[in-house]
Amino acid sequence: EGSPMGEKLNFDRSAKVIAENSRFVAGGVNSNFRLGMQPGPLVFERGEGPYLFDVDGNRLIDYYCGMGAMVLGHNPLGVRQAVKDQVDRGILFAGQAPIEFEAARIICERIPSAERIRFGSSGSEVAQAAMRLARAATGRRTIVKFEGHYHGWFDNILWSTAPALDVAGPEGAPTAVGGSKGQDPSEAAGLSILGWNDLAAVEARLAKGDVAAVFMEAAMCNQGAISPAPGYLEGVQAACRKHGTLLIFDEVITGFRLGQGGAQKLFGVTPDISIFAKAIANGFPVAAIAGRADLIDMFATGGVLHGGTFNAQPVAMAAMIGTQQGLTGEHHERTSVFGDRLQAGIRDILKEAGIKAQVTGFPLMFHVAFGLEAPARNYREMARSDKKGYSLFALALLQRGVRVLERGAWFVSSEHKDDVVDATLEVVRDAAREVAP
Ligand code: PLP
Repeated sequence: EGSPMGEKLNFDRSAKVIAENSRFVAGGVNSNFRLGMQPGPLVFERGEGPYLFDVDGNRLIDYYCGMGAMVLGHNPLGVRQAVKDQVDRGILFAGQAPIEFEAARIICERIPSAERIRFGSSGSEVAQAAMRLARAATGRRTIVKFEGHYHGWFDNILWSTAPALDVAGPEGAPTAVGGSKGQDPSEAAGLSILGWNDLAAVEARLAKGDVAAVFMEAAMCNQGAISPAPGYLEGVQAACRKHGTLLIFDEVITGFRLGQGGAQKLFGVTPDISIFAKAIANGFPVAAIAGRADLIDMFATGGVLHGGTFNAQPVAMAAMIGTQQGLTGEHHERTSVFGDRLQAGIRDILKEAGIKAQVTGFPLMFHVAFGLEAPARNYREMARSDKKGYSLFALALLQRGVRVLERGAWFVSSEHKDDVVDATLEVVRDAAREVAP
């Protein structure tokens, strides 16, 4: 268990399992985002609380938290029990179940913008539903999308999520840069790419009168953990109202992580439509599109199609209700104390070690960027961080039993309590010493 002082963990068995099984599964992973960091994709046997246990017998303190989904930590009892109970009652009805209405009521109570909702199974999917709905409601095509924001892996939105700066065009007029070979190049025409946190850019673009929706992560969490500038969200909302454009918040990361009511509650700006996934059901495939009743009702009466065999899957709904029961205001307050302590500890240790870094974000989701003089305010500033330096630090952490994303994000759960924070900071100190200049 854990790492004996000074000795680095070994991941050979993971490497072997991946190599052997790449015969069956492309690259040995089922999402390209798991090809991941050095020393290669890991294979896990079990998760519990803040820990993951891999096939090499390592116990890792996990700050991936299921890419942000595991807000209650791994395998919480309430969620497990809810799932078991539902499995005994039935798995899929291709009809309605009371459990999905209870789940819907909870979301409508917790999320300011949620007058109505529809459930789906992944963030990518409900992002599609949001775009279709916005185009149907406005009769316009263009969606404003921001550089560095990620709304799923589909052709029509996988643009400029993390473009190399040498091909990204001028800062004031970014080029749409595709994210994959094979992507339909004509889809770029449906988007207008802007830099985020720049209100004048949004106002100027919307004034042309052809924009269906402004689609954004209300706090930018895929590249950094960046808050909107004071007045930015309010200003974008006002511009949207002025020009007949809808405002869509992608709360796939921020929802149920920045607090019970997501970024919209935290920042006090209510969008027309918002989407959720990840932490909504602590690791089960649930997503939701929520918003104004007249808009979401277009799925029922406005000729806008939204389908999905697995939508409101009863076992996943049970997991969602179990998760939401755990996500009390008290949960958020308590977990925030751990997250804040961790963040402050990392900041201090890096400073002491002489490593120039910015630690920014929120108690349950923050970002560590090496090499920046000041907190980044948008993608271009974040893209100038020292990614190579941070990846060496991430590897040094992993080799000592702390698993973090290579891109700098840290996801905190309610299981990352004081003792886990202490253990983490000890490892951070060691790793910082290793990579310090
Ligand atoms: N939107 C945001 C902000 C995300 O971070 C992600 C996934 O990381 C998605 C959408 C896509 O969600 P999914 O991976 O469930 O399709």
